[in-house]
Amino acid sequence: MARFAGATWVEIDQAVDAARQAFNAGPWPSMGPAARSELLWKFADELKANEQILTELEILDNGMPLNPAGAYAVPGAVKMLRYYAGWPGKITGDTIPSDPRPGMNRPALTYTRREPIGVVGQITPWNYPLAMAVMKLGPALAAGCTVILKPDEHTPLTSLFLAELVRKAGFPPGVVNIVPGTGREAGVPLVAHPDVDKVAFTGSSETGRSIVKAATGNLKRVSLELGGKSPFIVFPDADLDKVIATATRLGFYLQGQNCQCPSRLFIHEDVFDQVVDGIVAGARAMKIGPGLDPDTRIGPLISAAQLERVEGYVASGIADGAECVTGGTRPDRTGYFLEPTVFAHTNRDMRIVREEIFGPVLCAQSFADDDLEAVAQDANDTVFGLVASIWTRDLGTAHELAERIKAGVVGINHHGSGDIYAPFGGYKESGWGREFGAQSVDMYLETKTVVVRYD
Ligand code: NAD
Repeated sequence: MARFAGATWVEIDQAVDAARQAFNAGPWPSMGPAARSELLWKFADELKANEQILTELEILDNGMPLNPAGAYAVPGAVKMLRYYAGWPGKITGDTIPSDPRPGMNRPALTYTRREPIGVVGQITPWNYPLAMAVMKLGPALAAGCTVILKPDEHTPLTSLFLAELVRKAGFPPGVVNIVPGTGREAGVPLVAHPDVDKVAFTGSSETGRSIVKAATGNLKRVSLELGGKSPFIVFPDADLDKVIATATRLGFYLQGQNCQCPSRLFIHEDVFDQVVDGIVAGARAMKIGPGLDPDTRIGPLISAAQLERVEGYVASGIADGAECVTGGTRPDRTGYFLEPTVFAHTNRDMRIVREEIFGPVLCAQSFADDDLEAVAQDANDTVFGLVASIWTRDLGTAHELAERIKAGVVGINHHGSGDIYAPFGGYKESGWGREFGAQSVDMYLETKTVVVRYD
């Protein structure tokens, strides 16, 4: 549908140079918090004014259905930018006690300054491109950094459109640089660049690992939002209508190409059949089609390669003895579509249970006993630790499991991140650092301690 110019190290180097100059000199570093807030707010206004074109671009580029993901892409991004517009005037240090030292009549005055880290490289994935770009830009700009954003090569269009809106909002030249290109040609030189102070990445754990290694040259700061294999634990006393509706809606949200996807369903044996039957009925009722059709609930996967990858997982699940209750095949239409798929009677040794599939595939397994330690062990039996949810009306069970489960976000009768004011990120191989909330701004700041002798 479109062609774009892919950057190589030459353009990355130019962008880093522009970002460095904008960070060191010019209007940006001397701008006060009110002016930075105003720019972020104007940027949000520009997104809102261009909601229709951005929504259509996002859907055409990524394939996500208008309902609900496409329709929320711009309102969600506007909300994030307005939230971050409130931050510049709230970034504060501390005054810190100090004991008198030998030779001093009075203790030193000690305080901390929070300063922007500097030039930041940001690398985003294809699954929710506009949200991912804004989620990265907002805290970095609120903190006072300058940015080179490299969107995924499958979905650069809304990020490129953002570049025009950055200009219209009035950011000084060099503060935001949006540079499309492939991971190999543009991502690698950005991560390795000696004049980049920090890299923020969302994507696969494998690429996250290679970024950590490549960042060692100048020991730049690295934050990572990687994959997940989220447990969704259902006890018999839960509100099963809500359980079924949530598992179906979020399990197939963005065709399952979603790091928060509740892809490991742990369902108590007393209600296993009822819950699985409900999810299967919901999956079969989801209309498959193009994203711009308002009735579509399942769009195409991102690429032929991703479709083949997910089909490979479906085949491995069947070969390992899991029961494919629904889906698993391509519908009879052109495009990278796969029917929403539910596997029952899965177990911890199967690849479909251990690895992140990033497709519309849910794996259900039952548990029998009420030993919460055993349930927590099953839930924690993964290299990931992004999101988990517990479905029960028993407060003791809910809070005990919330404590035992190793995940960055634990929902009780809820699945997924909190609102943007709450930190979001992973334990274990799900990443380093937290997006959203105060911690997301922290990731773009250095702390400087100033010690003042005044006796
Ligand atoms: P990826 O991690 O390879 O790509 C994500 C981004 O990283 C893209 O912008 C890409 O150009 C860039 N990139 C790739 N290699 C790089 C390198 N060596 N150095 C710097 N940048 C590099 O993801 P993918 O291959 O498109 O998807 C593979 C799998 O990753 C998916 O199936 C899924 O399991 C997972 N994934 C997770 C998320 C998430 O939000 N957690 C998002 C996308 C993909």
